[in-house]
Amino acid sequence: MVIAYIICIIMVAFISLITGMTIGATGGEVQELNDLKDLQIPFPDGTYYVKTSDYGYRVHPVTGEQNKFHSGIDIAPPMGTEIVASASGTVLETGYAPSGLGYYVYIEHDIAGKKYITAYGHMAEGSIVVSKGQNVQAKQKIGIVGTTGMSTGIHLHFMIMVDRVCFVSDCLLDPSFVLENTPKSEN
Ligand SMILES: [Zn+2]
Repeated sequence: MVIAYIICIIMVAFISLITGMTIGATGGEVQELNDLKDLQIPFPDGTYYVKTSDYGYRVHPVTGEQNKFHSGIDIAPPMGTEIVASASGTVLETGYAPSGLGYYVYIEHDIAGKKYITAYGHMAEGSIVVSKGQNVQAKQKIGIVGTTGMSTGIHLHFMIMVDRVCFVSDCLLDPSFVLENTPKSEN
């Protein structure tokens, strides 16, 4: 009787350990986050910034809509700060979306045999220094922060798309983890 009770306790502990480990993210997301662990903060090393908005559902700051999906994170450094590529890749597209991202750059990355796209929005007018098809290195300058498009102040809207250009949650990742990637300091 006592032994059965102990076995039962152990099994419950074991099951909660297993579910606890998998509850945070699906298997696919875990793999993707592992593939993307080398992504860098899209500003030069040492830049001061604040995260002004999280990824996910929120009240839209401009339209006031409830439960509006926010497709990336908003990060605000000082005016004039350079935006740099989060990882090496190829410029997929640059453009202007007046009622959305404003001046934007999409960079395609081939990581662990999978396609990811990082997106950079609300860039300053005339600041984009890369063009479609160009190869860029991680931390290479692509432009300067601004407040073009649907934006209330100087900030970067930074997104991670999985496999294709996408603005819905099934093919986006929460890019917050990139902010924890501190610059590599050798020596
Ligand atoms: Zn945003």
